[in-house]
Amino acid sequence: MKQINQIYINGEFVTPHGTEVMHLIDPVTEQVAAQVRLADETDTRQAIAAAKAAYVDFSRTSKAQRIQYLQQLHDAVLARADLLETVMSAEYGGPLAMVRGTVARASGAFLQAIKLLNEYEFVRQIGKAKVVMEPLGVVGLITPWNANYGFICNKMATALAAGSTVVIKPSELSAGQTQLLTECLHAAGLPAGVFNIVTGRGDVVGAEITRHPDIAKISFTGSTSVGKAIARGAVDTLKRVTLELGGKSPNILLPDVDLEKAIPLALAVGTMNNGQACIAGTRLLVPEERLEEVKAHLVRAVASVKVGDPQQTDTQIGPLVTAKQYARVQNYIRLGVEEGAELVCGGEGRPDGLSHGYFVKPTVFANVTPQMTIAREEIFGPVISVLTYRSIEEAVSMANDTVYGLQAYVSGEDRQQARSVASQIIAGRVFVNGMYDAPDAPFGGFKQSGLGREFGTYGLEAYLEPKTLIDDE
Ligand code: NAD
Repeated sequence: MKQINQIYINGEFVTPHGTEVMHLIDPVTEQVAAQVRLADETDTRQAIAAAKAAYVDFSRTSKAQRIQYLQQLHDAVLARADLLETVMSAEYGGPLAMVRGTVARASGAFLQAIKLLNEYEFVRQIGKAKVVMEPLGVVGLITPWNANYGFICNKMATALAAGSTVVIKPSELSAGQTQLLTECLHAAGLPAGVFNIVTGRGDVVGAEITRHPDIAKISFTGSTSVGKAIARGAVDTLKRVTLELGGKSPNILLPDVDLEKAIPLALAVGTMNNGQACIAGTRLLVPEERLEEVKAHLVRAVASVKVGDPQQTDTQIGPLVTAKQYARVQNYIRLGVEEGAELVCGGEGRPDGLSHGYFVKPTVFANVTPQMTIAREEIFGPVISVLTYRSIEEAVSMANDTVYGLQAYVSGEDRQQARSVASQIIAGRVFVNGMYDAPDAPFGGFKQSGLGREFGTYGLEAYLEPKTLIDDE
């Protein structure tokens, strides 16, 4: 069994002051894979103190110096990409193809930050005033387990580009991935204290970061309920917050849609990362007159999906992350049936041939009404709910009938119509006829999907505060 006994403070791997031990379970074998010693409040305060001390010099570094550091971080992560992929896939069950994308985005985040620094003007003249965009201070970064490296590297790259130092609190469920990533980041050779990584429980380490007066901002990715708790806690010290939260993304198939293209895409966006993605398109809105056709296509497409060992290159859906998550998704499938939705394929239990592991059958429900729980709540598993509409206006109104607003998808042959529908959807990102990578366009949610934006200039400015300087000249 792997032992994970260290955290990273002030440029060194140290044994936590915290003594609580947690077991990490392999989602394929259901056996204990690792034992993790968790950090506590004392460790967190030490990490914050180290970041605060490092901030004095780091906040005054030149653009050129920060670009150099970001390049070193990129190179150090890229150098161990293969191992990062294997460890990530094994720890939470992400299929290799998905995991490769995350690892590439993780190292790429440092290059994106370099590009930003090359383009961004930190000093502007506005009338008589010189306006200087200054870093905020020490930043707390709190991240989830479903794309651990990507969230850590993107947030860290942007915060460092802005001139801040950071205390990172990754998910305790990603302790093995974090240990390896920390080794990579350490190898980059940045000054001590610029980044600190404290793996521990959310209600211990995360809560300390939230209340500590020396943290100026928190950038959080995770569930809407925890995001709200952080926002409430951050008010006492008026911390800035960026919140990337949950979603229940609609995928509208327009009346003229080509199902040969749209159904594989619907399945891919509905089940990505084993269904454990904030941006998963899990509400499929289809024209009433094409429902039977859509169902037939979905049944065929789901039958060809390979569920199984995430480390096999042809696996499309691996296991869910934990027994708790497995039980939660099973419960939603049961609720779907109880509330009267039509089970088109999938259902409760494991897929045929899999006797253990947190594997869920890719599941499609039809005749789902907007009031049903499976149409409203984020399930975080490979479960797609099909709803029907009678007019484009109704499709738009159903798409927007949610407390979330993170991402949306529209497919149709008439591009003008698809664009017009896309423009009416309340979501941070809307994709027409596909799924695209846009690492420098803003990412984030409307409504209860979050607060603020990440990526590109909008993301950088969330780590900066304008200072106006005027003199008598
Ligand atoms: P989570 O909210 O349970 O945990 C996220 C992080 O917050 C973890 O590090 C956790 O330890 C910490 N945390 C928990 N309680 C805390 C507290 N009281 N104070 C401070 N920190 C605390 O989420 P999760 O299960 O790790 O991730 C899944 C959720 O994340 C889903 O809802 C998903 O939609 C969301 N998510 C959103 C995005 C996005 O960009 N919008 C991306 C990925 C995941």
